[in-house]
Amino acid sequence: MIKRYILMFVCFMVAFGLFLPQEIGVAANGTLTIAENTVNVRKGPGLSYQLVKQVNKGEKFTIIKEQEDWIQIQLSAAKTGWVANWVVTKTTNGTTTNGLNNSNNKTAEANTDQLRVRTGPGTNFRIIGYLNKGQAVSVIDDNENWIKISAGFGDGWVTREYLDFNTKSTTSKDDNHNKSIGTGNITDTLNVRNEPSTTGRVIGKLEKGSSITIYSKKNGWVEIKYGNQRAWVSADYVQTGTKNKPANPSNGTIGIVTASTLSVRSDTTLNSNIIGSITKGQKFTILEEKNSWFKIEYKPGKIGWAAGWYFNTDRETTTELAKDSKVTILHNGTNIRKDPTVQSNVLLRANEGESFPISSVENDWYEIILPNGTKGFIAGWLVTNNGTGPGIDKQGAEAYLKSKTIVIDPGHGGIDTGATGAGGTLEKELTLRTAYLLSDKLRAAGANVFLTRSSDSFLPLPSRVRLASVHQSDAFISLHYDSNLDRSVRGMTGFYYHSYQKKLAEYVYNSTNAQTRLKSRGVRTGDFHVVRENQRQAVLMELGYLSNSAEEMTLTSGQFQENAATGLYNGLARYFKDQ
Ligand SMILES: [Zn+2]
Repeated sequence: MIKRYILMFVCFMVAFGLFLPQEIGVAANGTLTIAENTVNVRKGPGLSYQLVKQVNKGEKFTIIKEQEDWIQIQLSAAKTGWVANWVVTKTTNGTTTNGLNNSNNKTAEANTDQLRVRTGPGTNFRIIGYLNKGQAVSVIDDNENWIKISAGFGDGWVTREYLDFNTKSTTSKDDNHNKSIGTGNITDTLNVRNEPSTTGRVIGKLEKGSSITIYSKKNGWVEIKYGNQRAWVSADYVQTGTKNKPANPSNGTIGIVTASTLSVRSDTTLNSNIIGSITKGQKFTILEEKNSWFKIEYKPGKIGWAAGWYFNTDRETTTELAKDSKVTILHNGTNIRKDPTVQSNVLLRANEGESFPISSVENDWYEIILPNGTKGFIAGWLVTNNGTGPGIDKQGAEAYLKSKTIVIDPGHGGIDTGATGAGGTLEKELTLRTAYLLSDKLRAAGANVFLTRSSDSFLPLPSRVRLASVHQSDAFISLHYDSNLDRSVRGMTGFYYHSYQKKLAEYVYNSTNAQTRLKSRGVRTGDFHVVRENQRQAVLMELGYLSNSAEEMTLTSGQFQENAATGLYNGLARYFKDQ
């Protein structure tokens, strides 16, 4: 909702300023990110204290102080509360509220096989590689749904839920508690609960076939790791035992250590015991390979596992391409051709899911090895590339967003909370969440992105508009959530003021409305400062009604936030494409 009564604001600010508690302005002790869906914030440091508010996964707060297992956080300018430290991820020494900015030393590992790594934070971005379970990566950046990582084949983004973070604050304090006692597979879709009982709260679901690491067992329940936390599933649906892919003997391949020192471990995970150490330049015969780990004889008669991504192998040094690179077909009836052009003869048709080893890359085409041993070509845009081979660029939305200057304006902030939802959601917090997600997507596509505010701070409307003219922006997008006294009102609206802004408004609105499937209230003219006084292309999006309690639940979900950001992103790309 847009506040038009600026005078009222000023009065409010002045009045408020007199009553600000002492904590405000005290240097932050860092920030934290909520790691679970629907976390209770309480009046004091304990479960018995009254509930102040519920917050969601991905929301970030400034830390005021800590007391045993509880952390006091700044909820808003005048409001504080306490959260349990086992439901949050801490960023110490953080001076900004956006992400893991001090994550230089932060590492994480994939908790599933075949985890897709993409060029940007969204499923519409191209896949550049895969991570396997236990594979360690460094963390570069993050938002509530996506993590940017650095892996052997380059930097990319992966879904947050499939990474486990190797930081103290996210692991249990009890060391024994960290040791797994085995692995298992889920035999049917089942609920994940926070306690070993059917009365425990459901915190998620696991699909049939998911693999799990087991930490303990109790009364027919199995303790597992779910996201960043421990959780329980019924033992009836867990098939225990290691079900790793059969090891592929690697025919005496030699690996040369590329890390200055590298630990040798008892098993193929970073959690397993360190039993030795090897150094840069040492050569070993790879006895076995499993999940990107190499089994080696690191000392005469002593066998252990080392992370395969810290080795150069003769396989890779003889050819630029890793021999284990494969392409996987995306659609049924895909043509495999004799030569790398669409005019050449079709050798055979392949179906979705079939995969072929890559032997070389020629322009936008992969040369692949067919089952009969002969070679053929397949267009790079018809496949996903699995492995460490080079990717082929597809011209997606990125092409139209590259080098565009976009100003994102998260509505309200600081003392101006905007609308307050039926359940207490503050508009100013939600607009910032959406803005972070959108800006990460746009930046990944190569756009120049400016946020009018990137923290919970007050910014007058003219300053917001000024940013658009200072940067000569190609698009200015103001993000808001609506409110109405009639709590049955719901839906999304797009606003522009000048006729020259109509096209942008329609593109962005239509795409976002289609992606989120919120009730459509259409695109209209609206007399709002940030579009009216804006000489650039501008749109103000009211992304749904917080005053409607059902819609509020939708709007605050991670899924909606991701969809809204994707819709805004696609709308911008299509707008620039059709310019
Ligand atoms: Zn608003």
